[in-house]
Amino acid sequence: MKQFQYLKATNNAGVISAIAKPGTKIIAGGTNLIDLMKRGVMAPDKLVDINNLPLKDISQTDTGLHIGALALNSAVSENNLVMQQQPLLAMALKAGASPQLRNMATVGGNMMQRTRCTYFYDTAMPCNKREPGSGCGAIGGFNRMHAIFGASSKCIAVHPSDMCVALAALDATVTLSGPKGNRTIPFTDFHRLPGETPQFDNHLANGEMILGVNIPANNFARNSYYLKVRDRQSYAFALVSCAAALDIQNDTIQNVRLAMGGVAHKPWRLFDAEKALVGKKPTEENFAAAAQLAMQGAKGYEYNSFKLKLAPATITEALKHAAGLI
Ligand code: SF4
Repeated sequence: MKQFQYLKATNNAGVISAIAKPGTKIIAGGTNLIDLMKRGVMAPDKLVDINNLPLKDISQTDTGLHIGALALNSAVSENNLVMQQQPLLAMALKAGASPQLRNMATVGGNMMQRTRCTYFYDTAMPCNKREPGSGCGAIGGFNRMHAIFGASSKCIAVHPSDMCVALAALDATVTLSGPKGNRTIPFTDFHRLPGETPQFDNHLANGEMILGVNIPANNFARNSYYLKVRDRQSYAFALVSCAAALDIQNDTIQNVRLAMGGVAHKPWRLFDAEKALVGKKPTEENFAAAAQLAMQGAKGYEYNSFKLKLAPATITEALKHAAGLI
């Protein structure tokens, strides 16, 4: 591993000025960054440890819940406010990684984690995300875990998070702080598609850090479910996952939120399927029709075309669980 400097931050302003310099990265739980540094995929000159900043709070606000960027994944998943008001988020977090990793990983770090594309981690292979212009080993390679939505000719990687899929579904917002002050953006606008510049995973500006996320209050707590389909029951990334949240009144769907993981470079919100379900009865037939609608524009590659069938089946199953049909 390349030698690096280590700095313990005492305030946000110090972090922002430090990370504005090229080669400086934030470290919190380090559950992904340290792996990447050991393998030579990332080689920062300086790490800024932000663990002493007061960003661990999980609190009620006038509009919903606030979760600080340094709240641990385990703490959020077991927090009473989260379990009662946003059980979808608790389920998604518990589906991610292992208990040991969830005890180290933070909410901000979860958002910043990088793809698990094997070519990205193998420095002997071409990868436009790791080394822009070098090519993509996965296109034409072993692409079983890769995207079916929103990919480009430069990169077909997927974002690996479960937590982020739930936050995208729940209309969360992200508060960022940087040299120009604070700003809040929709969670669905935080991560980006690969396009021509897959080296960028998100829309963080230079020198910006994550302060936390806010989840607006909703009526989804009784009918929500996170379904993760993976190669083994624990400690595996999603082949396909679906966050489903329903507001059902008098046997009619008043409101619905749907997002998928394991299918795109960012959490993939299913806006058309949501619109199609509003006003409908919560039946398997309606769920399956919405799931088919969600597949418009999907494209498989040599080894991941099974996702074209697995994805709509996962959406349908998640909705059935959320509605209490199974
Ligand atoms: Fe790299 Fe993206 Fe291609 Fe994977 S899919 S090898 S991350 S460019």
